[in-house]
This record gives sequence, structure tokens and C-alpha cells, in this order.
Amino acid sequence: MKFHWLLSSFLGVFLLTGAAEAARLQSWRFDASQNRLYFRTEGGVQPKAQLIFNPTRLVIDLPGTSLDRQSVNQPFSGAIESVRLGQFDDDTTRIVVELKDGYTIDPAQVKFRGISPSEWTVDLPTPVRAENPNPSSDPEAGVFSVEPLAPSEPSVEATVVQNVQVTGDGFLIRTTGGRPQINFQQSRALDIATLDIEGATLAPGLSSQQSQTNGKHGVERIEVRQLPTEPPMIRVTLRMNSSNTEWRASLSSLGGISLMPAGTRQSATPRRLTVDPPIRSSVSVPPPVDRTRNPMPLPRMTAGGGDLPQVSNSRSVVVIDPGHGGRDPGAVGIGGIQEKDIVLDISFQVARLLEQQGVQAVMSRTDDSEIDLEPRVSLAERLNATLFVSIHANAINMSRPDVNGIETYYFDNGLDLARTIHGSILQGTGADDRRVRQARFYVLRKTSMPSVLLEVGFVTGAEDAAKLSDPAYRSQMAASIARGILLYLQQR
Ligand SMILES: [Zn+2]
Repeated sequence: MKFHWLLSSFLGVFLLTGAAEAARLQSWRFDASQNRLYFRTEGGVQPKAQLIFNPTRLVIDLPGTSLDRQSVNQPFSGAIESVRLGQFDDDTTRIVVELKDGYTIDPAQVKFRGISPSEWTVDLPTPVRAENPNPSSDPEAGVFSVEPLAPSEPSVEATVVQNVQVTGDGFLIRTTGGRPQINFQQSRALDIATLDIEGATLAPGLSSQQSQTNGKHGVERIEVRQLPTEPPMIRVTLRMNSSNTEWRASLSSLGGISLMPAGTRQSATPRRLTVDPPIRSSVSVPPPVDRTRNPMPLPRMTAGGGDLPQVSNSRSVVVIDPGHGGRDPGAVGIGGIQEKDIVLDISFQVARLLEQQGVQAVMSRTDDSEIDLEPRVSLAERLNATLFVSIHANAINMSRPDVNGIETYYFDNGLDLARTIHGSILQGTGADDRRVRQARFYVLRKTSMPSVLLEVGFVTGAEDAAKLSDPAYRSQMAASIARGILLYLQQR
């Protein structure tokens, strides 16, 4: 394994100018009592890791990341010998957790968890005495790979639209590749229906097209268009010549999406038809919980909720999860503002507004305490919560005050919720739109109910930092988030 540490500050300067685009490793910490490494980078990173012997060490590479200081070697007592940081090559920062002589760990038990695109924890199992402390005299032998969970890697194979076929009872949008994630809506007047296929592209040689259907099944025309979105999306539009038929979309066992008339309706009352993307998470059955008892009672405040949507007879329980806390400030931005404080204030207000509308809100923390990721998830599971909403603030390089805006993350079954809240924030705050995105964050993967992670702005952004420092803007943000949650609950 080729390996070099920075030898001089001169070399360091050289490397950093050579990697002008690399993101900086912003902070790191090793908690020896829990064998937990925590690190934060500017912008997203996809770590790579391996376990190497002689001596046994966990080597974590952060591609596209630079260390803006000399290498670090922090010794520990106990089974962990030291944690070292260095620049491995022009754009890779390397973190090495070295074990004391004669100890080893099971690489399968090393757990990487993405908290947000730029924040990770790595949990090491308790080191055990190696049965054969020197598995081989060859230092290259016994290299295991530990595959971290990609935070922004698409979790499904891309869907490719092949063609549209007329069938006996409707239409079949034939697809290949991954299972399509679809969203189907029909206009109030029932004359137009749109089917959006997430992350899908048209088969090579197939261009966006309109086709006449000769009035088959009461449909005059079908349009198939590639939308210039990121990730890409295919929109199929049905234009009806008779407007009293409701349509529905479902995944077909033939490979694709079938569109079929669901029934005839005389009155044109509004109705929105939605097909959830496939759910891949396992659903656990939580123990019964007394919902009248709120584990973390919310302080009463006096400000009013304004014109928020009413959710009638709601039995919904929404877990509001303010990120970070305690020793973990999260992102630190312009003027020293800290993510943990901003998101706690916004979370309090969101929870209060929900409670005012009759929706039970439970916060994962109500003060400046440090809470691990597992208890945040297990709280939601124990309560059998309807929704889980994690609130964070974003950060990038301090020299990029031009980067501002909101991002909303979902994993498998939170897409509708993500879109609804994201849209409400854009509308309510005028924040820049940095899109709804899919990511494998721990709290999104491990919650069985629809869950989202909101990045409410950049503490390193000139615009966002000023706004997030303003209590009035935080209230506006909270009201927009609450409105999004209530709208989602209302239309369920
Ligand atoms: Zn965060």
C-alpha cells in the first residue's frame, strides 16, 4: 500500500494549490469511550475504507477532500493506539485508526453512517485480542474492504422507458431496468392525467414523442417527454377526449406501468391519485405506546399559528428531530452561528404549530444535549410515528458565501412528504431551491414511516446565515415546514 504523509509545510502548500477544488476536512473527533470516529467535510464525500494488518489499522480515505493543516497523530490509551490524519494524495485525505499491537477488529462490524452528505460517524467494534497477531509476514496480506453506505448513490437501478403499448384495458408504459418510482395525477376536470417516472430516461433512439391513439379508451393523445430535471424524469401525459373517467396507474407484472380507467364519475370534484414509490424498508411492529403521554413535553409558547391547514380528527404523531446537540455543534458558519442552535429553535416552533393544529409532535431533543442517531430512530419506531422530520442546516467552504438554499432529502417512502415540505418552504420563505434529493442517511434508512431530512439553509452562505440568524426568518421557516407537514397529513 503506497502511503505518504505530508513531510513539510512546503509540500502542504503545493498540494493544496494543486487541489483547488477539493473540499476541506472541516472537523473530526474520535470518542475513545465509544470507539466512534466522527468527521465532517465541506460538501459531500463518499468515504472508502479497508482494514490492513501489521499493525492492524482501519484506513479511511476521503476522496475529493483536503486537509488544510499538517498531518495529525493523536495517541490514545487502551486498545486504540492512535488516530492519524494525513493527505494521501492530491485530493484524498486519509484517516487511520491504528490498533494496539496484538488487537484486531471484525471488519464486518465497522459501521459507517451518513448523518448528512458531509457528516459521518464510523463505529468500530470493541477490539479483541488477535489469535494470530501476525496473520502473515506480508504487510499487504489480509486486506478487507469495508463498503461504506453511499449517501447520494441512487439506491435503485435507473428505469428506462422503452415504448407505450395499447392493451385490452388501457396502456402499458414498458420499462426496463429498475422498478419504476411513479407519481400519477389527474386534473380536476379529468381531461389530463400525468404520470411522472422518477429517475427514468428514454431508451436510446427513442425521442420525446406525441402519439395519436385514435380515441382508444377515451384517450386522444399520449405524450412522452424527458424532463430536464436532476435526477432525470419522464413525464407521460394523457389527453382525454371524454372527461368523465378516472384513471389509475400501477406497476405491471409485465415490466412497466399500466394505466387503466378506474371508473366513471359524473361530478368533477377534485381528486388526486398518487401511487407511492415502492417501499423497501422493513416495517417493525413497535410495542404499544400510551400516546397521551408525550415523552418530552413541549414548552408552551404564546405566538399563534396563523392560517395553517386543519387536519381533522388527527391521530397523527410527528417526530421532529433537531440535528446534533451538546458537544456536536453540527455546522458552524458565518459569525460563529451553530447548526445545533438554529435547528433546535426552528424545531420547537414546528412542534408547537403542529400541536396547535391538533397533531401530536414529539421532539427527539428539547435542549442542548448530545443524542446518538439510534435513539432518534427508535423514538419514532416506539411511538409508531406517522412521520419523521429531521431538521438540519447545511455548510460548505467558508469561502463560498455565494452558496445558499434549501435541500430536502428522502430515502424510500418519503418522496411525497419531501416534495410537499420542500414546496411549502420555497413558497413560504423564498429560499433558493437546491432540490429534493434521495440519500441513504441513517435516520432516513432506519425509520419505517415516511421520513425526510431538511437542510434549511447554509450557515456558510452570506444570505442564508443572515436570514437564519434572524428570529423572524426562523419563525417563517418553521411555519413553512409545519404547513408542509399539515398539507401532507391532510391529503393522506
Ligand atoms: Zn447536520
